[in-house]
Amino acid sequence: MLDRRKFIKASALSAVALAVDKSSATAMVASNPLSIIGKPIVISTWDFGIPANKAAWKVLEKGGRALDAVEEGVHVPEADPSIQTVGYGGLPDRDGHVTLDACIMDEFGNCGAVAGLEHIVHPISVARMVMEKTPHVMLVGDGALQFALENGFKKENLLTKESEAAWKEWLKTAKYAPVMNVENKLYDKAAPTKLPGNQYNHDTIGMLAIDIKGNLSGACTTSGMAYKLRGRVGDSPIIGAGLYLDNEIGGATSTGVGEEVIRNVGSFLVVELMRQGFSPEEACKEAVMRIIKKKPEIAKKIQVGFLALNKKGEYGAYAIQTGFSYAVCTAEKNDLLIPGKSFYK
Ligand code: ASP
Repeated sequence: MLDRRKFIKASALSAVALAVDKSSATAMVASNPLSIIGKPIVISTWDFGIPANKAAWKVLEKGGRALDAVEEGVHVPEADPSIQTVGYGGLPDRDGHVTLDACIMDEFGNCGAVAGLEHIVHPISVARMVMEKTPHVMLVGDGALQFALENGFKKENLLTKESEAAWKEWLKTAKYAPVMNVENKLYDKAAPTKLPGNQYNHDTIGMLAIDIKGNLSGACTTSGMAYKLRGRVGDSPIIGAGLYLDNEIGGATSTGVGEEVIRNVGSFLVVELMRQGFSPEEACKEAVMRIIKKKPEIAKKIQVGFLALNKKGEYGAYAIQTGFSYAVCTAEKNDLLIPGKSFYK
């Protein structure tokens, strides 16, 4: 269990180190043996993170491993056809194919990923199998499907009537014009919004969890950008971009326009900044600022959000645009929804 006196002392020390020099805090933070042993936590992106976290919590509260928790957790949006940005019912690419991207990472630094995977409801579980059953990290397209089928996954049609109708509507103009942050309105029970299909353009679930032993794992899964070019892969299945973690430091995940996240190796950057002593929110903000500084004109029109969790169980997020939300679940509260801070208000 966490020793409170040690915790206060360590926090005070890191605060002093931060005030003096971030780089000199590196050694101190890295050698800090404290983590939240005995206090599991799971956090994930967007409003749909709430039911996903609850599923993950069922594993964590029984003392289960964070890796199992994140896999169970993201299964929820993957299987939910009303969420048109993840898994079954995801909006297709411009040619009508639902192609899924996912990755997973454990406390030992093992990772697995699939990209452009079709016909499988739970790409995250295929990613886990790539991690555990092969010497590789990523399988793509037909090869990923072949591997999934050989390992007992069922081939299914992922294109629901609703997503097919939305795609056909989009085909009338075939204009790709992403509308930012409209998706969260879908889950706003107080003000449900019905938007035309071509406006649900993206939103990934990225999930990070710490289990009772204080170990960290993460998962990230998406159907990617709606009506993307066939073969386009975003940040979500790329380790270091859509997801990264280091069991000594913490983890990060991202959502939004994946191209900008890949260009800045976003999640890796967030974790490395936390290693240097940044808080989760400060680290996410710095990663967002890299995107804005490099491409200010593009950044005005796109959304990217980062979410991070450090080994002490502290979490934070930051996005380019307003509207990003994240869900937090602990023993005290299982359905906390927090609006992420953003550069543009
Ligand atoms: N990051 C995902 C992608 O670029 C989409 C999203 O999160 O909105 O494919």
